[in-house]
Amino acid sequence: MQVSSITIHTPKNNPYASSPKPLKTTPVTGNTVSSDRVSIYDKGSYNLAFGSMIDRYMEDKEEFLYKKTLPLHLKNVNDIDPYLVEKYFESLGIPCQIRQGSKKTRQVIAYGCFNATEMLRQINMPLPTRIDMEEMLGSEPGVYPIAACYYAPDYNKGYPIRTVTFNTLHNWDNHMETCYEENKRNGYHTSGHFLQTFLHEYGHNVHNHKLYSKFGCPYQNNLGYVYNPNMRYITDALNLKIYDKDGRVLQNPYVTEQVRNIIKQSSGYGSTLLPETFAEEFAKAMLSCMNPTTLRLTKNPFPIQNLSPELYNVLYEVWEGLIADGQGLVK
Ligand SMILES: [Zn+2]
Repeated sequence: MQVSSITIHTPKNNPYASSPKPLKTTPVTGNTVSSDRVSIYDKGSYNLAFGSMIDRYMEDKEEFLYKKTLPLHLKNVNDIDPYLVEKYFESLGIPCQIRQGSKKTRQVIAYGCFNATEMLRQINMPLPTRIDMEEMLGSEPGVYPIAACYYAPDYNKGYPIRTVTFNTLHNWDNHMETCYEENKRNGYHTSGHFLQTFLHEYGHNVHNHKLYSKFGCPYQNNLGYVYNPNMRYITDALNLKIYDKDGRVLQNPYVTEQVRNIIKQSSGYGSTLLPETFAEEFAKAMLSCMNPTTLRLTKNPFPIQNLSPELYNVLYEVWEGLIADGQGLVK
């Protein structure tokens, strides 16, 4: 059994750390979940008719700054040594292997991982337990995940919970140049900044740590979490699909039509699954408090500002794992 040696931080100043709402739990059985991995693009559904995401896409100022600072980062990324970034993660107790693909591919992943990690460290949030690259085929041809965060351990791969991996099938060489224009075209994510993918996966990592710290972890001997096989119903409920791959609404006892409409205020991808709503808004909040030149936070993004009250409440319930309780917005 693979157990990571990373020290788990208990985030200080974490606005979500307290739970004023009493938790009522109703164990739910008989529902299936898609996988133990949460991935960008993995759930298909480019075809969903999402409402307001384009309007919310990006402030003009941010758009201007992202464009203006991109040449600087394209220069910096050429100077980064992925081997030294691996050493940096090793010094933090995090196994890291960025060893596949072209030199540019490895540099882009190293640059993203390093800067996103430094941003998490600024606000003392838990870091991924391992970083790796792997080939990830999608659920259908042409649709594949860019990256993934594991909420279950994969003992065959030696991945502890909260491992973040990057897909060798993705074109990382041009990732920084293309993600901005691509996202502007399809509005699939809350931001077109090249750190979006990294921060999105790191958001899953923070969320999984929160849930396992609060409720216990359904896997034994993992990262010091209290073992609680019964909490699995929470992650199963959170990851129960809302739409099928063609955008048809699936029967889901936790996500009412009202909630489906509320999470459309997030990005296209954020509308597809409750943990994706959280990860997308986490990335958006981090980027909105980031200096685009230094790639560092200028203030703590949490609690997240500038959300509608109803999206904030859904996000709060998702973050706290307040699901399968029959109350609130998320039932
Ligand atoms: Zn995700």
